[in-house]
This record gives sequence, structure tokens and C-alpha cells, in this order.
Amino acid sequence: MKWWERPVRMMRQDYITDLQRVKEVDLDALARRKREEWHINCEWVIGTPGVAPGLGWQTTFDTPKFPKFEALGDFDLVRSYLPHARKYGIHVLAYLNMHWFSYDFAEAHPGWEQVRADGSAYGRHYPLYGNGTTLCVNSPWRDWAFDMIREAIKTGIDGCFLDGPVIYPGCCYCPACREKFRQCYGQPIPEAEDWNNPLWKDFIDFRENSMADFLRDAQSAMREIDPQGVVFLNAGSWHGGGWRVARDMEKVGPYQNFNGAEAFFHPGPDDHALLFWATAAKHLVAGGKPAVVFSHHALGSYHYIPLPPVEAALSVAQAVACGANPWFAIFDYAMDHSAEKSIAPMRRINGFLEARDEYFTRTESAADIALLYSSNSNKYYLSEQAEMYRDPGTGREQDLIADTGTGEIQINWSVRKSICDAVQGNAYLGYFNALTRAHLPFDVILGSGLNAEDLKRYRVLILGNASCLSDDQIAAVLGFVDAGGSVMAEFETGEYDERGQKRMENPLRALFGVRSVDGMFAPATAEEYIRADAHDITSAFGDGEWIPRPVFVLKARPMQDATTPAEVLAPIGQVYTAPQGGSGYPAVIARQAGQGRTVYFPHLLGDFLGRSKIHQAEDLITGAVEWAYNAPLPLSCDAPPSLQVELRRQGDRLLVHLVNNTGDMQRPITQTIPIRDITLRLPWQGIARAYRLSDMSGLPARIEAGSLEISVPVVELYEVVVIAKG
Ligand SMILES: [Zn+2]
Repeated sequence: MKWWERPVRMMRQDYITDLQRVKEVDLDALARRKREEWHINCEWVIGTPGVAPGLGWQTTFDTPKFPKFEALGDFDLVRSYLPHARKYGIHVLAYLNMHWFSYDFAEAHPGWEQVRADGSAYGRHYPLYGNGTTLCVNSPWRDWAFDMIREAIKTGIDGCFLDGPVIYPGCCYCPACREKFRQCYGQPIPEAEDWNNPLWKDFIDFRENSMADFLRDAQSAMREIDPQGVVFLNAGSWHGGGWRVARDMEKVGPYQNFNGAEAFFHPGPDDHALLFWATAAKHLVAGGKPAVVFSHHALGSYHYIPLPPVEAALSVAQAVACGANPWFAIFDYAMDHSAEKSIAPMRRINGFLEARDEYFTRTESAADIALLYSSNSNKYYLSEQAEMYRDPGTGREQDLIADTGTGEIQINWSVRKSICDAVQGNAYLGYFNALTRAHLPFDVILGSGLNAEDLKRYRVLILGNASCLSDDQIAAVLGFVDAGGSVMAEFETGEYDERGQKRMENPLRALFGVRSVDGMFAPATAEEYIRADAHDITSAFGDGEWIPRPVFVLKARPMQDATTPAEVLAPIGQVYTAPQGGSGYPAVIARQAGQGRTVYFPHLLGDFLGRSKIHQAEDLITGAVEWAYNAPLPLSCDAPPSLQVELRRQGDRLLVHLVNNTGDMQRPITQTIPIRDITLRLPWQGIARAYRLSDMSGLPARIEAGSLEISVPVVELYEVVVIAKG
């Protein structure tokens, strides 16, 4: 295995504008500390700084081609440090800032800046980090960037991390982009966001393809110097609206060694999802190559204070439990006043990973439930249901005022698109949370994973609101059910093609048991309900019990062979008003389809759960998954929902990762509350032994009626239960 295919623990120690501080340090002691105290095996060393006022054009190493960061004098930071890092088994990558450049530098190179449709440079309207501009991947700057990569690799390092480039929102209309676009599409770039114009969608593609072209050529440039060199960039995460910055992991993935993305914790009222790092990790792992979750070891934007210890450890545990690698940045000024507080949590968790390295090497997910992350839907979904854009307000009451919205329908494209982007992101989050909290092992798969071969290993496929699917993807879904698989979907799944063009007929409707759709209910964030009827899917509820209604609901009519275990109640339309009885429209449509089963929600249930965390929505999702699974579950666990359970396989043995996210009920979490006396149950043939990885001690395991029962006395923050045959 190549070093980057093995478990990697990365860090960057950041000196900001005072890189010369490194000159005062004993470099051997510094490298030894990285290995023996931080327990890392890969380090990013600043090659070009990401500091004000945009000094990405200066280097920290000696090269005849680029100016040096002045305060370093004749000190070559990279070449001086490299032998010490090597001595302690640390692979060194250069951090090259590829998105933040000073105005002076841009003015010396006319035609390199990213330009908006009105001809003005992006960085003049939106100074980067308050001061500086940004350059274009299609402009002659690209050759400058490739030269920089070559020069960095000549220092003897193992590769480069490219921080950027980013194609910023509304960019780029520079002369090089205009020319390249005309060559590709025979027409000028559309001047404004217009989702009715196919050329606008070409522009979305063009921007992402330009990023992939850049990375491809960057990789070639690097390989001219070192054929074994490693390169990667910020591939982008799962949040809705990623198309605005031209990020598509599926496009850049082929040209990089790692898929990585930022997941920086920020304290504040926009409460982070508890599974903040796990949601990023599984999305990245879905890219099918080594993944890295970038978590600053900083208290949000207070960079010189480390993350609270529990959050720091969770950032690592959540990522590795999902099969990704951890990365953190520590800011050197934090080491002046909080060295031990900074190091302690990383020493502990990274030390554990280092000591048990074998158990994190060449493992694979053992999940057979798949959650689709549809990048086409994230990019092109723009619902044609006008009711999607009616303002329902927040539904909140304060000071005797209830916010029930203006009731007006938004007509602005940009606002409409943002509403759909938010829905896609929240839907991913909603299903992710529901499955994790129910301890149902699952993988995230990307659109490219919707094919017969890749789907073979799954028993249940959750599509969420996969609105924009290609004909091939539709065929894969249909084939999956033909082969005995079960599918869950919601709302407008399959209504649009892969570019967001509405289909004349939805080819998945019959599969889902939907005869027709009569439009939508008015969206509402208050006082609307669903009634559950007796069925396995709704077994969490009593017969006739009410459930809060998701905001966005279609009026779907079921086919005759479908069952409808829940009904949408007739709109009440007004808080503190009496219920109006049933609506006749189902809230769940379930079907037996050959050996498989389908469950269709005519509403945005994932989005509703992602936003509101309302537990009834979670119960409805998990009830549906369990019914669709139609066999003993691959794992069950009696722990609280805040215990994240990930099931991985390594040859013959199973690894049950247990991440205890249970804390003091607010973020940042300052205390872990241990979970005691957990029982894990798995279907099992033959005899088994189990032990925990923290101290390698045996765990009581007994087999009864084809089921293995393991008792885990306590889980502190992180544990792995190893189950081996015999
Ligand atoms: Zn451009």
C-alpha cells in the first residue's frame, strides 16, 4: 500500500504572518513533538502563506522563480524542516494558497483576476478576508500556479495541498473564460442566473469542469518532478448550494489522492448538527478514495484558542469511525499560552489511532443500507411547484406574535434556487441524522454509485428527494428493485432529468405506487398534521395518532396495489383553530414490488427532520427503513441516539465503532457523559469472540438463535468493539 492509502493523521501548525518564528525553534524537537505528542504521520508545511494582504504569491522556500516571504531571509523553511520530519516518519506536504492574492500582485498581471458579469473583478467587490483578490483557473495564472507546484515539489516533499482555487459566486467572465466558453459551447456566457436557459446550466458545468481541468494539469505538473507525488484540494462538502463555488467532488476526484473538505466548528446560535464531522466524512468517503475531514483545532474564529477537548476528540472520532482520516490545524500562538490544553486531547485520540493502526488499515463499510447524495439534484433542482416558494414563516410565537409568513410566492430565480438548495442540504442531514440516531449502519453513495454493480451490496436504497436523475440512474433504481432491493423516496424524486428539466412523465411513479399528483398543499410551519394508521411502518405511533406535518406536501393519489399507512389531515390554515378532518391524500405510500418493497413519502420529510429535529419525523423514517429492510437488522443497540455506531469490516472480523456524542447538552460540548451497559446484537453464524480496542480486554459474547449478543460495560468518548470468528 502507498503511504497515503494507509491511515493518515494530518496536521498543520500555523504561524500566520509570523513565519519567521520557525527560525527560532529547534526543528528536530518540533518534528519529534509532532510525532510523539500530536501522534501525526503527515504534516502540511506552509509553502505559500494564506495571510493578509493575500501573500499567496510568496514562498517560504528558495526558488529562482518566485519572491520569498521577506521575514524568512535566507532561511528555507521547507528544506530546513523536511529532514527532521522524515526522521520521525512524517510525510510532508506543502500548503499552497491558491485563492488569496494581493491587489498589487493582481495589478502586475492584468487579465488574471476573476471577473463578474459586469466586468468588475470579484475581489474588488468582496475583498477576500477583508483585503485581497482572487485569480482565475482559466487565465494565464494557471501556468504560474503549475510552476509554483513544480518548484514546491523540487524541495523533496511528498506532495501539495492546494487551498483553492475557488471559482467564486457569479464568476468568471474574464477574457480567458469568455473565450474558452465560446469554444466549448459556440455562444457567449449567459450574463445572469437563468435556470430556464440551458446555456446557464452549461455555465454551471463549465465552471466545475474548469476546476477539474486545473487540477488535472496541476497533477501532471507535479508528476513531471515527482511521479509519486500527492496532490489534492478542498473538494467541497455536502451542503446545499455548493454549485455556487463550482465544487463537485465527483469531477475533481479522479485527479487527486485524497478527497478532503473543511468542517470547521463555530460556536454560536446556528447550532451545529451533533454529527457535524460524520456528515462530512461519509460524504467524502463516498468518493471512493482516501478521505480527510479538515477540522480546525480552534474555537471557531478565535483561532488562538484550541477547541474544547471533547469537541477536538469528537472531530477525530466521528471522522475515523466513518472511514475517513483526521486533519487539524493548530495556531502557533495557542502554543504560547495553552500548549498542554491544545495537545492533550489530540495526544489521547491520535495516540490511540497510532497504537491500534492495524485496525484502521484497509477496512471497509459493512453497511447494506445506502443513502444517496445526488449531486445533480443539489446542482439543478428547481421545483416547478409554485407552492414551494410561498412564504410559510417560521411558525414561532414570541411576544404574542406568531410568525406565519407573508403567504406571498417568491418569483426571484435566485431566491427560488436558494430555497431548493436548502431543501437538498437539509434532506441529506435529516436522513443522515435519523439513520445514525437509530443505529442503522448505512453508507452514503454518490450519483455515480447509482448503477447495477455498485448497488448489488445494498438491501435498502434511500433516495431522499433525488429530484434530478438521469435515464441510466432511473434504470438502475428500477433494476435494483427487480433484483429484490427495497427503495425509499420522497416528494419529487425522479420528476426531473439530470439537468433539472421536468420530465413529461416520472418513470418512478409506478414503482412508488403513485397514480397521480394533484399539486401541493400550501406550505405550513404550524398547526398542520398527519394521522398514522396501524402498520409496521408507523409502529412507533398509536393507531390514529397525529404527527406534525412536513412543511412541503404533495397531493398524491395512490395506485390500487399500494397501502397508505398514514393520511395528510385537511389544512387547518390557522393556528388555534379546530381540526378539519382528513384530506383523503396519503402521507405514506408503501408497496410490495416483487421481492422488494418501496416506501414513498409525498412530502419533504428529510428536510423537515433536518430543520426541526422533530422526533416523530425520525420515527417515521426509521419505521420505513426497518419495514423496507424486511429481515433481521444487521445491528441493533440499546444505547441512546447520541451514540454513533458504525459497522466496518476487515477481512473476517467486524469492527463496531462507538462514538459517544453524549455531553452536556450544548455546543461546544465540555463534558462527555459515559454510556454504560450497552448490548449489541448482530445476526451471526458459528462462534465468536469480542474484545474492545481501548485495552484489548475481552467482552462477554453469547450466541442465541442465530444472534450474537455482546455486552459493553462502558463507552467513554470512543471505543471500537472487535468481533472475530471463533
Ligand atoms: Zn476566468
